[in-house]
Amino acid sequence: TPRVFSGIQPSGNLHLGNYLGALKRFAEAQNKGIQTLYCMVDLHAITVWQNPADLARATRELAAGFIASGLDPAKSILFNQSQVAEHTQMAWVFNCVARMGWMQRMTQFKDKAGKNAQNASLGLFAYPALMAADILTYHATHVPVGEDQKQHLELTRDIAIKFNHDYGVEFFPIPEPVIEGAATRVMSLRDGSNKMSKSDPSDMSRINLTDDADTIAKKIRKAKTDPEPLPSEAAGLEGRPEARNLVNIYAALADMTVDQVMAEAGGKPFSEFKPMLADLAVDRIAPISTEMARLMQDLSEIDRILADGAARARTIAAPILRQTYEIMGMVGTR
Ligand code: ATP
Ligand code: MG
Repeated sequence: TPRVFSGIQPSGNLHLGNYLGALKRFAEAQNKGIQTLYCMVDLHAITVWQNPADLARATRELAAGFIASGLDPAKSILFNQSQVAEHTQMAWVFNCVARMGWMQRMTQFKDKAGKNAQNASLGLFAYPALMAADILTYHATHVPVGEDQKQHLELTRDIAIKFNHDYGVEFFPIPEPVIEGAATRVMSLRDGSNKMSKSDPSDMSRINLTDDADTIAKKIRKAKTDPEPLPSEAAGLEGRPEARNLVNIYAALADMTVDQVMAEAGGKPFSEFKPMLADLAVDRIAPISTEMARLMQDLSEIDRILADGAARARTIAAPILRQTYEIMGMVGTR
């Protein structure tokens, strides 16, 4: 039976890329009647320093963002990673399955650790093993993620394959990435060659789900572009990353193909296209930010939803961890 798992880090600044690449699609999976688990991955967030008060706020804000984006806590299991200890227990097992060389190939580690990799936390390096645990501890079969997570998911598959092979079992299903749609990779509004990211120091680089209508419009007005008008066909976006990004965002928000957007907006100067995009973005994002603000007025209700989700998650995770230990010869787990 199909089971969907995905996670988002509560590292603040939930943005349009998270919405189009993740949240919107999470809601679509939920509404297909498939079992869906969505996790606030706070243990991933702490691979880089998090101020405790900010982490707590970001976790609740992320939960509010999930709900405001259409995730229904009655249909999906919404929970916080640190509340289900099986994730970390399974991560240790996978630390012993994954090879150093596999980890060393991860481009996100290189990006995030930067020049001073000796100073990065060990957790940042081992992060993909915890991500494998998040997924495999539920025997999840489908993982909706943005393009940027493709390599980590590949590693999850390698871990599952190696575990099954080493112990001669068919225990962990090999999960499939679900990567689709025009804007699976939303780029920064300041630089079309960098992805829109929570951790980008420039707030103008992203549209936050907490931005109000005026802020959204301003960020789109100021988005970097080249001086040419839009081309008349999609092929003309080649070599114009900023123009392509705005067209992709439009297409994703409007549920249109890029060709349909070009039929509507091809040839227009940015002075005309940007206001069209701003109207559309406000129309789609402002209601989410309003709903998030409303939800954030009752933190105890959010905490209750997360606790309930964790209890339900544990009923799936605990037996799978127990079986894993048994396969490995750990005594006393029956
Ligand atoms: P960080 O900079 O802290 O890594 P992030 O913005 O990359 O933050 P994550 O929590 O790592 O956000 O990712 C959450 C989900 O959002 C993942 O499924 C990821 O693939 C997706 N995602 C992140 N950034 C983008 C983006 N720019 N475009 C599309 N999807 C994205
Ligand atoms: Mg990321």
